[in-house]
Amino acid sequence: MKAVCWHGAHDVRVDTVPDPEIVNPRDAIVRVTSTAICGSDLHLYDGVIPTMAAGDILGHEFMGEVVDVGGAVTNLRRGDRVVVPFTIACGRCEPCQAQLWSLCDNSNPNAWMAEKLYGYSASGLFGYSHMYGGYAGGQAEFVRVPFADTGPFKVPSHLADESVLFLSDIFPTGYMAAENCDITAGDVVAVWGCGPVGLFAIKSAFILGAERVIAIDRIPHRLRKARECHAETIDFDREDVLETLRVMTGGRGPDACIDAVGLEAHGSGSLGAYSDAAKTSLKLATDRLEVLRQTIMACGKGGTVSIPGVYGGYLDNVPIGAAFAKGLTLKMGQTHVHRYLPRLLTLIDDGVIDPSFVISHRAPLSAASAAYRMFLEKTDDCTKVVLQPAA
Ligand code: NAD
Ligand code: ZN
Repeated sequence: MKAVCWHGAHDVRVDTVPDPEIVNPRDAIVRVTSTAICGSDLHLYDGVIPTMAAGDILGHEFMGEVVDVGGAVTNLRRGDRVVVPFTIACGRCEPCQAQLWSLCDNSNPNAWMAEKLYGYSASGLFGYSHMYGGYAGGQAEFVRVPFADTGPFKVPSHLADESVLFLSDIFPTGYMAAENCDITAGDVVAVWGCGPVGLFAIKSAFILGAERVIAIDRIPHRLRKARECHAETIDFDREDVLETLRVMTGGRGPDACIDAVGLEAHGSGSLGAYSDAAKTSLKLATDRLEVLRQTIMACGKGGTVSIPGVYGGYLDNVPIGAAFAKGLTLKMGQTHVHRYLPRLLTLIDDGVIDPSFVISHRAPLSAASAAYRMFLEKTDDCTKVVLQPAA
């Protein structure tokens, strides 16, 4: 089959690789009909996530048709149309039972790698390094889905791929980021990053009752998309983010701040950003922390900083004193996709939201290499690329 394979920083290729097979009775094989490139894939593309190997198949946002199931899978049949959560979860361990699906105890066969770095391992992920299980991803014609009696969710035939594909990751991710803000009536929520995750966080914050959402980015077409979602916007290349937020909130600061950017934040002229850039380029630091610092400094007293953006390592010069002094709550982590998927599917089916609004480009799987570059560079007004293996 054809699959998008990682060969090093800024080098992805569409290779011919062996078809996946059932290796466990709880597996299914899915023929991928639609798959997308995520901001998280860009961290792999940029080479900032450790434990990737040449030839690894990428992709964790995908859906398709079940073409084979293992003997223990009774909930799915050949021909079922499914969306697959990017987090792999067994459904039986203590975290899964507690709805903490992205913290599954059983789905990462390389848990020892994550334990060395983090103390304990989170769940395995599709197409996301050996530290997260080394699973082949879904930017491919076919994919093996482990724990298929738990993970894939059937979707109704009257909803197009483009409307349900993002239930695999970015819609639940934006929603959980907003839910983590414990929004109450009258709240002002600030969202850093108007990429797909930020845009879903904006929509979700309004769905959950925010009165105002203020979105921050510097890319004109993404700021425009944020305004189309009814957010007010700040261009961080033109305005001082902290001062503008203070003025826009009457001197109080936002009730909650969402970091939908993560470890590859661009600097906006601060000393911290220059220091991050220098240290990361010399491999003396792992993450660029401009946005994390700003969310903590901007947040109003007693507020919440919600962090869907991915971080990987050890952090320098994070103003934890400000978080302490203001009594902030910090919440973060990979999304518990299984927890949110059914309820968000209902929102789509009820017409409350059509997630396809984020799509800017559609391309055949064979064009993946150019699509990665375009999504990285945000050229041609690119917000989100859907790849279609059959196109
Ligand atoms: P993206 O790269 O498309 O968007 C990121 C946006 O942030 C860009 O528009 C960029 O211009 C903007 N940005 C960069 N520096 C900024 C700054 N200093 N201030 C404000 N905006 C800034 O990525 P995405 O797909 O929207 O994903 C966003 C983040 O969410 C990534 O870190 C991704 O890995 C993460 N993510 C996490 C989960 C999870 O489970 N927690 C799931 C999916 C994605
Ligand atoms: Zn993703």
